[in-house]
Amino acid sequence: MSGFRVAGWCPDAWRPMAAGDGLLLRIKPRLARLSRDAAQAVCALAVQHGNGLIDVSRRGNLQLRGLDHAGWQAALAELLALGLVDADPLAEARRNLLVAPGWRDGDDTHRIAMALLARLNELPVLPAKAGFVIDAGSHPQLLAEPGDFRVERGRHGGLILRAAGRAHGVALAPGAEVDGLIALARWFVQSGGQGRMARHHAPLPAWAAGQDLPAALAPAWRPGPCALGMVHGAPFGRVAAPVLDAALVEPGAQALRITPWRLLVVEGAGGDAVPGLIDDPADPLLRVEACPGAPACPQAHVPTRDLAIALAPHVRGTLHVSGCAKGCACTSATTHTLTGRADGQFDLARDAAPGAPPCQAPLTAQQALDQFASCPSAELPDAPCL
Ligand code: SF4
Repeated sequence: MSGFRVAGWCPDAWRPMAAGDGLLLRIKPRLARLSRDAAQAVCALAVQHGNGLIDVSRRGNLQLRGLDHAGWQAALAELLALGLVDADPLAEARRNLLVAPGWRDGDDTHRIAMALLARLNELPVLPAKAGFVIDAGSHPQLLAEPGDFRVERGRHGGLILRAAGRAHGVALAPGAEVDGLIALARWFVQSGGQGRMARHHAPLPAWAAGQDLPAALAPAWRPGPCALGMVHGAPFGRVAAPVLDAALVEPGAQALRITPWRLLVVEGAGGDAVPGLIDDPADPLLRVEACPGAPACPQAHVPTRDLAIALAPHVRGTLHVSGCAKGCACTSATTHTLTGRADGQFDLARDAAPGAPPCQAPLTAQQALDQFASCPSAELPDAPCL
């Protein structure tokens, strides 16, 4: 297993993170939505001050890459002028809020998220990675997405408050959702919580310890037309700014929504494909995860994405190629997981997350390619590995 370093903090516009390709600046659109003009301005900033690449994060955020110090300061000034970054760095850091991306004006997700944004100053000082999930549509969409303090649609139709790591939540009275979230965050801190709620094993207080399960998960989103507009896939969660800009000038385009699934929704757009984005729901790249890898990430032991692209047509389950055991692209298990090793080769594990004990190691990239190409693993369900 390969070692890795946990940064323990999250970048934002005020505090960019050094990556292998320069500074990484995270933009956190409110409710994961940008007007078309704002989204196009972000594209322009990526080209003008960064390397032209934009990441789509699993928290519904966008990240500019490849900035130098002067470029960061210039981009920050423009983002402040656009109102996309809070003028108070502390408020910006606190705005860790993941919303179900199908929300509509005035529905429960929109109402609760807006109310929470207005009360962020009531929150205690939380660990840097702690965050909130508002998943209040008719069926939850975000059950597999991490988030510490959660409001979700419950099995009985009402909303529930649920602490991450607990299967059950407690029913919420209408209008009490934000009070519940703030109270849960305060309890977490007062009871000695550090890091993430899922690893905080103190017994919940009676008011937060219910027996309500979340409702069944909504069907997964796929590329193609949807009720909001057009859904496009971003291969590995990355898009070149000119490609995104091209999607934003499609007829009818009004706004951009960012999902946590590497999918972008162009509100109001028709069903036209955009070169550089995934528009076929059967595209094998949709089943493949790969972090930036070497050289973009200083912790990476290996390049990742070229190998993932080459492997994708040969893998019928899901695949994750990770530059190290940290598993940034996907922390849950995939059918096949290749984890970069310090010696520049890979560990291969099955039905596992990065860093799990391998069933085969070490493998060079070419050996992995040869094996998958000659033996599509999904056709051998009983094979221990490959
Ligand atoms: S998983 Fe990938 S992106 Fe994350 S630290 Fe490791 S090499 Fe870097």
